[in-house]
Amino acid sequence: AIFGSERVNSSGINIDIENEWTSFRDGVQKHMTRQWKKGPIIGGQPQETAAVTKVLSPYQRQETVGTIHWAGNADVEMAMDKATHAFNRWNQTGVNERSACLERLADLLEIHRNELVALCHREAGKTLHDAIDEIREAVDFCRYYAVQAREKFGAPMVMTGPTGESNELYLSGRGVFVCISPWNFPLAIFLGQVTAALAAGNTVIAKPAEQTGLIAARATELILEAGVPGDVIHLLPGDGATVGSHLVADPRVAGVAFTGSTETARLINQTLANRQGAIVPLIAETGGMNTMLVDSTALPEQVVQDVIHSAFGSAGQRCSALRVLYLQDDVAERIIQLLKGAMKELLVGDPALHETDIGPVIDAEALTGLERHVAKMKQEARLIAETPLPDDCDDGYFIAPVAFEINSISQLEREQFGPILHVIRYKASELDHILDDINDTGYGLTLGVHTRNEASACYIEERLKVGNAYINRNQIGAMVGVQPFGGQGLSGTGPKAGGPHYLYRFATERTRTVNT
Ligand code: GLU
Repeated sequence: AIFGSERVNSSGINIDIENEWTSFRDGVQKHMTRQWKKGPIIGGQPQETAAVTKVLSPYQRQETVGTIHWAGNADVEMAMDKATHAFNRWNQTGVNERSACLERLADLLEIHRNELVALCHREAGKTLHDAIDEIREAVDFCRYYAVQAREKFGAPMVMTGPTGESNELYLSGRGVFVCISPWNFPLAIFLGQVTAALAAGNTVIAKPAEQTGLIAARATELILEAGVPGDVIHLLPGDGATVGSHLVADPRVAGVAFTGSTETARLINQTLANRQGAIVPLIAETGGMNTMLVDSTALPEQVVQDVIHSAFGSAGQRCSALRVLYLQDDVAERIIQLLKGAMKELLVGDPALHETDIGPVIDAEALTGLERHVAKMKQEARLIAETPLPDDCDDGYFIAPVAFEINSISQLEREQFGPILHVIRYKASELDHILDDINDTGYGLTLGVHTRNEASACYIEERLKVGNAYINRNQIGAMVGVQPFGGQGLSGTGPKAGGPHYLYRFATERTRTVNT
C-alpha cells in the first residue's frame, strides 16, 4: 500500500538558482542583528522570571541573540494546573479543528521562514542550508500529523461481532503530555513532538533544550497564532535537572515524548516508574553508534560522497550520523585515499556563507568533550585525515572534521556527537563477527550499506538490529512520511517519528459496545 500519497512534502527553496538564493539571503539578513526576548509561555501569556540569561551564538561567542527567562517551580505548577484543566475540552474538540490548527501552523512557519532560519542559524549555529531543511521538516511534521490525525481519530473503527450488538474502537488523547526536545533540531523535533501530542487530543507542556529556548518560544507563539488555545500548550524553557525532572515526576502527567541522550531517557523512565499515578508511555528517541558497511563491489566515489555527507554534515550533530565506517580490505585503501582528498575540500566556518559545509558545534561543553575524544584517538588510533580549521574560527565552537582508523567498534565507549569518523577495515570472512560486534553495542538507529550485491545488502540488513537502513546512499536526513525515523535498543523505544504509527502512542483506545 502507498501511504500518505495525498500530501506533499515542503519544497523549500532551490539555492542553486541565483535569484532564489539572493532573495532568500536578503530576507534572512533583516533578522541577523535582531535581538529576541523570550521566556516561559503559560496560558497564552509570556512570563518574566528572575532567572534571565543572555543567549550567545555558537559561531561567534561575542554575538548576543537575545535573552531568555528560565522557568521556575511556580511556573511548572501553573502550567500543570492549566494543562490538566484544559484536557477534556481540547480532547473533545473535533479532530478536524485540531488538524486545521496544525495546517495553519505549517502556513505560518512558511510565512515566517526567514526569521526562523535566522534564529536556527544564530541560536543553534546551523548553516543556512541546514536551517532551510529544518523549517521544511517542521512544516512537513505539521501537515503529516494533521492528515494522520484525521485518518485515525476522525471516525471509530467498526469491529464486526455478533448480531444485536455494535462494536466500535475509538482513539482519543491521554491527558497532559510532556515534550522534552533537543537542540540539534530545535524547531523540527520540538514541533514534531508537540504537534503529534496536540493532534491526538492531548494538552502539552513543552520543555525545550537549554541551548535553544528562543526558537521554541517563537514556535510556541506561532502555535497560539494558529488557533491552539492558550491553556492547551505551555512552554517552560529551563534546565533539565529542575524543570524537566519536576515535570516528569508529577502524577498528573499522562505521557512523555523525549529526544536526547540515552542516559536522560533512563532517568525519565526511572522517574516515571517511581512516581505516584498512572503507568504512562515514554516515547524516547536517543543516540546511536551508526555504522556503514562497504564491500568490494561498491562504487568508491559514491561511497565517499555519502560518507562525507553522513559523518560530517550538520557537524555530525545528528543522531542518525555515521560514526563507524567498515571497509572491506580490497577497497579500503582506495576509499581512504579518496576520503582524504574529499576532507581536504571541506569548508568549516561561518555558517552564514553559502559555501560553508560545516558550522560550529553547539557549545563549550560539547566542544570540550569532542576535543577530549580526538586527543585520546590521536594516542590510540591512526589518524587518516583532519580538515584544517581556518583562522577565523577562534570565536566559535568549531572543531576540525577528523577521521581515524581503529581496530574494533568496542574501542568506542560512547557516541561522539560531532564530526568524528572512525574507520575499520575488514575481511569478507569476518563479516559475521563484525555484525555481532555492531549488535553488541546495543544501539540500533541507522545503518548504511554500499554494495552492488543485493543478497549481501539483504543479509546485513536482516542481521542488524536497526531502525533505518539506507542502501547505496547517505544515511541522514530522513523525510517525514517517506522514511519514518527512529531506532531500537539503546537508540529508543519507537514508534517512528514521521511515520504512520507515531500518533497511536500519544493516544488511548476505547472499545464501545452497544446492545442494539
Ligand atoms: N531525523 C534526523 C535524520 O534523519 C535525525 C534526528 C536526530 O538527530 O534526532 O537525520
